Amino acid sequence: MADAGATMTKPHILVVEDETALVEMLRYNLEKEGFKVSAAIDGEDALTAVDEHQPDLLILDWMLPLVSGLEICRQLRRKPDTRELPIIMLTARGEESDRVRGLEVGADDYVAKPFSPSELIARVRAVLRRSKPSTAADLLTYAGVVMDLSSHRVLRDGRAVHLGPTEFRLLRFLMERPGRVYSREQLLDAVWGREIYVEARTVDVHIRRLRKALNGPNDTDIIRTVRSAGYALDELTQ
Ligand code: CA
Repeated sequence: MADAGATMTKPHILVVEDETALVEMLRYNLEKEGFKVSAAIDGEDALTAVDEHQPDLLILDWMLPLVSGLEICRQLRRKPDTRELPIIMLTARGEESDRVRGLEVGADDYVAKPFSPSELIARVRAVLRRSKPSTAADLLTYAGVVMDLSSHRVLRDGRAVHLGPTEFRLLRFLMERPGRVYSREQLLDAVWGREIYVEARTVDVHIRRLRKALNGPNDTDIIRTVRSAGYALDELTQ
């Protein structure tokens, strides 16, 4: 449920800018491109909004009343929970020294006013793409096999592999430590859990299913059976 909701959720952009006309222009264009937009009109408002509900990206104007955009950026970078928050700074000043200062305090990108909405949206997309370490961590790859842990999809050399839940967990465990040999008992503990009683030969059954799903007619078998020891994922086998 939570997973399905997360993939459906629009990326949330917080626009921090005191010029109402510019906020409305950005809101209109970003919403049209499928983003969810909220706005803050000054620094304090922005810091409160981020505290209450962290956006996926901040569009932060340099020139703001009370606390400057630069200062907000600096403050956000000091806090552990906003250290990685993607920030694009806007400024009327197009000078190189300003750009450098903006990036020095930790902005991910910098757009000088005036800018076209499409240019800004392209920057937003690029920064969001770069700033998704979780996406990279959710992918396991080995020997042409790609496991996407968040969408539960498996590909081998681009071909979709359909696995049952147990085979999925089994493959995941092996993919996390390729080359290492595991006994049936170790695999039972890791994949089925200690509290469930399962016979050791059940592992063989699921390894057989996993092989069948994973190996196409012309593929090498990347699961190595180690006699009297167990199994390992190994592309340099057989
Ligand atoms: Ca402003």
